Amino acid sequence: MSFSTGVPVGPCDLSVVVPAFNEGRNIETLAERLVPVLDDLATSWEIIFVDDGSHDDTLTRIKALAAWDRRVRAVSFSRNFGKEIAIAAGLDHAGGRAVVLMDADLQHPPEVIREFVAKWREGHAVVYGQRIDRAGDGVVRRKLTQGFYRLFAAAGETPLPPGAGDFRLMDRKAVDALRSMGERARFSKGLYAWIGFKSVGVPFEVADRAEGVSKFSFRKLFSFAFDGITSFSTVPLKLWTYVGVTISFFSILSALFFLTRTFVEGVDVPGYASLIVSVMFFSGIQLISLGVLGEYIGRIFAEVKRRPLYIVGESIGFGEAGAEIARPVLVRRPA
Ligand code: UDP
Ligand code: MG
Repeated sequence: MSFSTGVPVGPCDLSVVVPAFNEGRNIETLAERLVPVLDDLATSWEIIFVDDGSHDDTLTRIKALAAWDRRVRAVSFSRNFGKEIAIAAGLDHAGGRAVVLMDADLQHPPEVIREFVAKWREGHAVVYGQRIDRAGDGVVRRKLTQGFYRLFAAAGETPLPPGAGDFRLMDRKAVDALRSMGERARFSKGLYAWIGFKSVGVPFEVADRAEGVSKFSFRKLFSFAFDGITSFSTVPLKLWTYVGVTISFFSILSALFFLTRTFVEGVDVPGYASLIVSVMFFSGIQLISLGVLGEYIGRIFAEVKRRPLYIVGESIGFGEAGAEIARPVLVRRPA
Protein backbone atom coordinates (compact mmCIF):
# COMPACT_ATOMS: atom_id res chain seq x y z
CA MET A 1 0.00 0.00 0.00
CA SER A 2 1.31 3.48 -0.75
CA PHE A 3 0.26 6.75 0.78
CA SER A 4 1.00 10.11 -0.73
CA THR A 5 -0.34 12.05 2.23
CA GLY A 6 -2.63 10.74 4.87
CA VAL A 7 0.39 10.06 6.97
CA PRO A 8 -0.53 10.37 10.63
CA VAL A 9 1.25 13.36 12.18
CA GLY A 10 2.80 11.24 14.85
CA PRO A 11 1.87 8.77 17.48
CA CYS A 12 -0.36 9.92 20.31
CA ASP A 13 -2.41 8.08 22.89
CA LEU A 14 -5.87 8.60 21.58
CA SER A 15 -7.39 9.71 18.28
CA VAL A 16 -11.06 10.56 17.92
CA VAL A 17 -12.43 10.35 14.40
CA VAL A 18 -15.61 12.28 13.66
CA PRO A 19 -17.27 12.11 10.23
CA ALA A 20 -19.29 15.26 9.64
CA PHE A 21 -21.68 16.11 6.84
CA ASN A 22 -23.47 19.42 7.26
CA GLU A 23 -22.94 19.43 11.00
CA GLY A 24 -21.84 23.08 11.35
CA ARG A 25 -24.10 23.70 14.31
CA ASN A 26 -22.80 20.71 16.23
CA ILE A 27 -19.03 21.10 15.90
CA GLU A 28 -18.45 23.47 18.82
CA THR A 29 -20.82 21.76 21.22
CA LEU A 30 -19.15 18.47 20.45
CA ALA A 31 -15.67 19.88 21.06
CA GLU A 32 -16.81 21.50 24.32
CA ARG A 33 -17.96 18.16 25.67
CA LEU A 34 -15.22 16.06 24.15
CA VAL A 35 -12.11 18.03 25.09
CA PRO A 36 -12.48 17.76 28.92
CA VAL A 37 -13.01 14.01 28.60
CA LEU A 38 -9.92 13.59 26.45
CA ASP A 39 -7.82 15.83 28.72
CA ASP A 40 -8.70 13.51 31.60
CA LEU A 41 -7.95 10.36 29.70
CA ALA A 42 -4.79 10.95 27.75
CA THR A 43 -1.69 13.11 27.84
CA SER A 44 -1.68 13.37 24.08
CA TRP A 45 -4.76 13.17 21.92
CA GLU A 46 -6.16 14.41 18.63
CA ILE A 47 -9.60 14.98 17.18
CA ILE A 48 -9.81 14.30 13.47
CA PHE A 49 -12.86 15.68 11.73
CA VAL A 50 -13.64 14.32 8.32
CA ASP A 51 -15.67 16.90 6.47
CA ASP A 52 -17.63 14.79 4.03
CA GLY A 53 -18.24 17.47 1.41
CA SER A 54 -20.54 19.59 3.57
CA HIS A 55 -22.48 22.44 1.99
CA ASP A 56 -22.79 24.44 5.19
CA ASP A 57 -20.20 26.09 7.45
CA THR A 58 -18.89 22.80 8.88
CA LEU A 59 -15.40 23.29 7.46
CA THR A 60 -15.16 26.93 8.52
CA ARG A 61 -16.05 26.02 12.06
CA ILE A 62 -13.62 23.14 12.12
CA LYS A 63 -10.88 25.47 10.86
CA ALA A 64 -11.67 28.00 13.57
CA LEU A 65 -11.41 25.24 16.13
CA ALA A 66 -8.15 23.94 14.66
CA ALA A 67 -6.63 27.42 14.75
CA TRP A 68 -7.44 27.60 18.41
CA ASP A 69 -6.33 24.09 19.36
CA ARG A 70 -3.64 22.32 17.38
CA ARG A 71 -4.85 18.95 18.50
CA VAL A 72 -7.87 19.42 16.26
CA ARG A 73 -7.16 18.32 12.71
CA ALA A 74 -9.32 17.77 9.69
CA VAL A 75 -9.54 16.18 6.31
CA SER A 76 -12.00 17.71 3.91
CA PHE A 77 -13.31 15.68 0.98
CA SER A 78 -13.73 17.14 -2.48
CA ARG A 79 -17.38 16.01 -2.40
CA ASN A 80 -19.74 13.87 -0.33
CA PHE A 81 -18.41 10.31 -0.29
CA GLY A 82 -20.64 8.92 2.47
CA LYS A 83 -20.09 8.14 6.12
CA GLU A 84 -18.44 4.76 5.57
CA ILE A 85 -15.72 6.28 3.40
CA ALA A 86 -15.33 9.21 5.79
CA ILE A 87 -14.61 6.71 8.55
CA ALA A 88 -11.99 5.01 6.36
CA ALA A 89 -10.30 8.35 5.72
CA GLY A 90 -10.34 9.18 9.43
CA LEU A 91 -8.67 5.87 10.23
CA ASP A 92 -6.03 6.53 7.55
CA HIS A 93 -5.13 9.84 9.17
CA ALA A 94 -5.33 8.84 12.83
CA GLY A 95 -2.05 8.38 14.66
CA GLY A 96 -3.36 7.23 18.03
CA ARG A 97 -2.50 4.02 19.80
CA ALA A 98 -6.26 3.71 20.05
CA VAL A 99 -8.88 5.31 17.83
CA VAL A 100 -12.42 6.25 18.83
CA LEU A 101 -15.12 6.64 16.18
CA MET A 102 -18.11 8.81 16.93
CA ASP A 103 -20.85 10.83 15.22
CA ALA A 104 -20.79 14.60 15.15
CA ASP A 105 -24.40 15.06 16.26
CA LEU A 106 -23.87 14.20 19.96
CA GLN A 107 -25.97 11.06 19.71
CA HIS A 108 -22.87 9.33 20.97
CA PRO A 109 -22.22 10.81 24.43
CA PRO A 110 -18.50 11.74 24.72
CA GLU A 111 -18.51 10.71 28.38
CA VAL A 112 -18.89 7.05 27.39
CA ILE A 113 -15.33 7.21 26.01
CA ARG A 114 -14.10 7.00 29.61
CA GLU A 115 -15.51 3.49 29.82
CA PHE A 116 -14.15 2.64 26.39
CA VAL A 117 -10.65 3.58 27.46
CA ALA A 118 -10.95 1.72 30.77
CA LYS A 119 -11.91 -1.45 28.91
CA TRP A 120 -9.12 -0.91 26.39
CA ARG A 121 -6.59 -0.61 29.20
CA GLU A 122 -7.92 -3.91 30.54
CA GLY A 123 -6.71 -5.45 27.29
CA HIS A 124 -9.67 -5.40 24.88
CA ALA A 125 -8.60 -4.51 21.37
CA VAL A 126 -12.11 -3.44 20.40
CA VAL A 127 -14.66 -1.76 22.64
CA TYR A 128 -17.99 -1.05 20.99
CA GLY A 129 -20.90 1.02 22.19
CA GLN A 130 -24.06 -1.03 22.46
CA ARG A 131 -27.24 0.97 21.88
CA ILE A 132 -29.75 0.51 24.65
CA ASP A 133 -32.65 2.04 22.81
CA ARG A 134 -33.44 3.68 19.54
CA ALA A 135 -36.75 5.17 20.61
CA GLY A 136 -35.93 8.35 18.73
CA ASP A 137 -35.92 6.45 15.47
CA GLY A 138 -39.54 5.84 14.61
CA VAL A 139 -41.29 2.49 14.34
CA VAL A 140 -40.88 1.84 10.61
CA ARG A 141 -37.15 2.48 10.65
CA ARG A 142 -36.66 0.34 13.75
CA LYS A 143 -38.63 -2.58 12.27
CA LEU A 144 -36.73 -2.36 8.99
CA THR A 145 -33.41 -2.25 10.85
CA GLN A 146 -34.43 -5.30 12.83
CA GLY A 147 -35.46 -7.09 9.65
CA PHE A 148 -32.12 -6.26 8.05
CA TYR A 149 -30.12 -7.67 10.95
CA ARG A 150 -32.15 -10.88 10.83
CA LEU A 151 -31.59 -11.18 7.10
CA PHE A 152 -27.89 -10.45 7.52
CA ALA A 153 -27.59 -13.11 10.21
CA ALA A 154 -29.41 -15.64 8.03
CA ALA A 155 -27.47 -14.89 4.85
CA GLY A 156 -24.02 -13.96 6.05
CA GLU A 157 -21.17 -15.90 7.50
CA THR A 158 -20.24 -12.99 9.77
CA PRO A 159 -22.50 -12.57 12.82
CA LEU A 160 -22.94 -8.97 13.98
CA PRO A 161 -23.07 -8.24 17.71
CA PRO A 162 -26.56 -6.87 18.50
CA GLY A 163 -26.83 -3.10 18.98
CA ALA A 164 -23.23 -2.43 17.94
CA GLY A 165 -22.70 0.53 15.65
CA ASP A 166 -19.95 2.88 14.66
CA PHE A 167 -19.44 4.34 18.13
CA ARG A 168 -16.40 2.38 19.25
CA LEU A 169 -12.78 2.32 20.30
CA MET A 170 -10.25 0.29 18.39
CA ASP A 171 -6.70 -0.54 19.24
CA ARG A 172 -3.99 0.27 16.68
CA LYS A 173 -3.82 -3.34 15.52
CA ALA A 174 -7.56 -3.43 14.82
CA VAL A 175 -7.31 -0.09 12.99
CA ASP A 176 -4.49 -1.40 10.84
CA ALA A 177 -6.49 -4.52 10.09
CA LEU A 178 -9.43 -2.39 8.93
CA ARG A 179 -7.17 -0.20 6.83
CA SER A 180 -5.80 -3.21 5.04
CA MET A 181 -9.22 -3.85 3.51
CA GLY A 182 -9.45 -1.89 0.30
CA GLU A 183 -13.09 -2.54 -0.58
CA ARG A 184 -15.19 0.17 -2.16
CA ALA A 185 -18.52 -0.96 -0.83
CA ARG A 186 -17.61 -0.45 2.79
CA PHE A 187 -20.09 -1.94 5.16
CA SER A 188 -18.21 -1.03 8.33
CA LYS A 189 -20.39 -2.99 10.72
CA GLY A 190 -19.55 -6.14 8.82
CA LEU A 191 -15.86 -5.25 8.53
CA TYR A 192 -15.62 -4.62 12.29
CA ALA A 193 -17.04 -8.06 12.96
CA TRP A 194 -14.92 -9.70 10.28
CA ILE A 195 -11.55 -8.60 11.66
CA GLY A 196 -12.25 -10.27 14.99
CA PHE A 197 -10.04 -9.41 18.02
CA LYS A 198 -10.93 -9.48 21.67
CA SER A 199 -14.05 -7.32 21.87
CA VAL A 200 -16.41 -6.10 24.52
CA GLY A 201 -19.59 -4.01 24.46
CA VAL A 202 -20.35 -1.00 26.63
CA PRO A 203 -24.07 -0.20 26.82
CA PHE A 204 -24.98 3.44 26.21
CA GLU A 205 -28.16 5.37 25.66
CA VAL A 206 -28.45 6.99 22.26
CA ALA A 207 -29.12 10.66 22.82
CA ASP A 208 -31.29 12.77 20.57
CA ARG A 209 -29.57 14.49 17.72
CA ALA A 210 -28.36 17.89 18.98
CA GLU A 211 -28.97 19.97 15.88
CA GLY A 212 -30.07 19.30 12.31
CA VAL A 213 -31.61 16.19 10.83
CA SER A 214 -30.44 12.66 10.11
CA LYS A 215 -28.41 12.42 6.91
CA PHE A 216 -29.69 8.98 6.12
CA SER A 217 -32.76 8.88 3.94
CA PHE A 218 -34.58 5.58 3.46
CA ARG A 219 -33.05 5.36 0.01
CA LYS A 220 -29.54 5.67 1.44
CA LEU A 221 -30.35 3.12 4.13
CA PHE A 222 -31.66 0.65 1.56
CA SER A 223 -28.58 0.91 -0.60
CA PHE A 224 -26.49 0.60 2.54
CA ALA A 225 -28.36 -2.57 3.50
CA PHE A 226 -27.83 -3.94 0.00
CA ASP A 227 -24.10 -3.25 0.19
CA GLY A 228 -24.04 -4.99 3.53
CA ILE A 229 -25.68 -8.17 2.30
CA THR A 230 -23.84 -8.37 -1.01
CA SER A 231 -20.41 -7.71 0.44
CA PHE A 232 -20.77 -10.33 3.14
CA SER A 233 -22.87 -13.01 1.54
CA THR A 234 -23.14 -14.89 -1.71
CA VAL A 235 -26.41 -16.52 -0.69
CA PRO A 236 -28.47 -14.26 -3.03
CA LEU A 237 -26.38 -15.62 -5.93
CA LYS A 238 -26.58 -19.25 -4.94
CA LEU A 239 -30.26 -19.11 -4.02
CA TRP A 240 -31.26 -19.19 -7.69
CA THR A 241 -29.76 -22.62 -8.19
CA TYR A 242 -32.14 -23.98 -5.57
CA VAL A 243 -35.11 -22.04 -6.91
CA GLY A 244 -34.29 -23.31 -10.40
CA VAL A 245 -33.94 -26.92 -9.28
CA THR A 246 -37.20 -26.79 -7.31
CA ILE A 247 -39.13 -25.26 -10.19
CA SER A 248 -37.68 -27.73 -12.72
CA PHE A 249 -38.64 -30.57 -10.43
CA PHE A 250 -42.23 -29.37 -10.27
CA SER A 251 -42.36 -28.78 -14.01
CA ILE A 252 -41.27 -32.38 -14.65
CA LEU A 253 -43.96 -33.57 -12.24
CA SER A 254 -46.62 -31.50 -13.96
CA ALA A 255 -45.42 -32.63 -17.39
CA LEU A 256 -45.86 -36.23 -16.25
CA PHE A 257 -49.28 -35.37 -14.86
CA PHE A 258 -50.49 -33.74 -18.08
CA LEU A 259 -49.06 -36.53 -20.21
CA THR A 260 -50.82 -39.19 -18.18
CA ARG A 261 -54.06 -37.23 -18.23
CA THR A 262 -53.86 -36.82 -21.99
CA PHE A 263 -53.42 -40.55 -22.39
CA VAL A 264 -56.28 -41.36 -20.03
CA GLU A 265 -58.81 -38.62 -20.82
CA GLY A 266 -57.71 -37.48 -24.27
CA VAL A 267 -56.98 -33.86 -25.31
CA ASP A 268 -59.08 -31.29 -23.50
CA VAL A 269 -59.55 -27.56 -24.03
CA PRO A 270 -56.28 -25.80 -23.24
CA GLY A 271 -56.31 -23.26 -20.38
CA TYR A 272 -54.93 -19.93 -21.46
CA ALA A 273 -55.11 -18.43 -18.00
CA SER A 274 -52.81 -20.97 -16.41
CA LEU A 275 -50.47 -20.68 -19.39
CA ILE A 276 -50.16 -16.92 -19.11
CA VAL A 277 -49.74 -17.08 -15.35
CA SER A 278 -46.95 -19.60 -15.55
CA VAL A 279 -45.18 -17.74 -18.34
CA MET A 280 -45.28 -14.55 -16.31
CA PHE A 281 -44.16 -16.32 -13.18
CA PHE A 282 -41.12 -17.83 -14.83
CA SER A 283 -40.09 -14.69 -16.68
CA GLY A 284 -40.35 -12.87 -13.36
CA ILE A 285 -38.07 -15.39 -11.73
CA GLN A 286 -35.59 -15.09 -14.56
CA LEU A 287 -35.53 -11.31 -14.41
CA ILE A 288 -34.99 -11.35 -10.66
CA SER A 289 -32.08 -13.74 -10.95
CA LEU A 290 -30.58 -11.65 -13.74
CA GLY A 291 -31.00 -8.59 -11.55
CA VAL A 292 -29.15 -10.22 -8.70
CA LEU A 293 -26.34 -11.17 -11.06
CA GLY A 294 -26.27 -7.58 -12.24
CA GLU A 295 -25.94 -6.28 -8.69
CA TYR A 296 -22.92 -8.45 -8.06
CA ILE A 297 -21.32 -7.74 -11.41
CA GLY A 298 -21.82 -4.02 -10.80
CA ARG A 299 -19.99 -4.34 -7.52
CA ILE A 300 -17.20 -6.37 -9.08
CA PHE A 301 -16.88 -3.63 -11.71
CA ALA A 302 -16.63 -0.97 -9.02
CA GLU A 303 -13.90 -2.95 -7.27
CA VAL A 304 -11.80 -3.73 -10.34
CA LYS A 305 -11.64 -0.09 -11.38
CA ARG A 306 -9.42 0.41 -8.34
CA ARG A 307 -10.25 4.03 -7.92
CA PRO A 308 -9.00 5.69 -4.79
CA LEU A 309 -11.50 5.45 -1.99
CA TYR A 310 -11.75 9.21 -1.57
CA ILE A 311 -10.28 12.49 -2.76
CA VAL A 312 -9.03 14.98 -0.21
CA GLY A 313 -9.69 18.58 -1.13
CA GLU A 314 -7.94 20.08 1.85
CA SER A 315 -6.27 18.85 4.99
CA ILE A 316 -5.92 20.91 8.12
CA GLY A 317 -3.43 20.48 10.91
CA PHE A 318 -1.39 17.73 9.30
CA GLY A 319 1.76 19.83 9.00
CA GLU A 320 3.86 20.14 5.86
CA ALA A 321 2.51 17.08 4.13
CA GLY A 322 -0.96 18.54 4.07
CA ALA A 323 -0.07 22.22 3.58
CA GLU A 324 2.26 21.61 0.68
CA ILE A 325 -0.29 20.15 -1.59
CA ALA A 326 -2.78 22.58 -3.01
CA ARG A 327 -4.27 20.27 -5.59
CA PRO A 328 -6.54 17.34 -4.73
CA VAL A 329 -4.52 14.39 -3.62
CA LEU A 330 -5.23 10.74 -4.02
CA VAL A 331 -4.81 9.48 -0.55
CA ARG A 332 -5.27 5.81 -0.78
CA ARG A 333 -4.74 3.17 -3.37
CA PRO A 334 -5.63 -0.34 -2.36
CA ALA A 335 -2.65 -2.68 -2.29
N1 UDP B 1 -22.36 11.50 7.86
C1 UDP B 1 -21.33 11.65 6.94
N2 UDP B 1 -21.60 11.52 5.60
C2 UDP B 1 -22.87 11.25 5.12
C3 UDP B 1 -23.90 11.09 6.08
C4 UDP B 1 -23.61 11.21 7.43
O1 UDP B 1 -20.18 11.89 7.32
O2 UDP B 1 -23.04 11.17 3.92
C5 UDP B 1 -22.07 11.63 9.30
C6 UDP B 1 -22.94 12.64 10.01
O3 UDP B 1 -22.45 13.95 9.90
C7 UDP B 1 -22.90 12.14 11.43
C8 UDP B 1 -22.81 10.62 11.25
O4 UDP B 1 -22.32 10.42 9.94
O5 UDP B 1 -21.76 12.59 12.14
C9 UDP B 1 -24.13 9.94 11.47
O6 UDP B 1 -25.10 10.50 10.62
P1 UDP B 1 -26.60 10.76 11.08
O7 UDP B 1 -26.62 11.30 12.47
O8 UDP B 1 -27.25 11.60 10.03
O9 UDP B 1 -27.18 9.30 11.02
P2 UDP B 1 -28.17 8.60 12.08
O10 UDP B 1 -27.66 8.93 13.45
O11 UDP B 1 -29.50 9.18 11.82
O12 UDP B 1 -28.06 7.15 11.75
MG1 MG C 1 -27.20 10.72 14.21
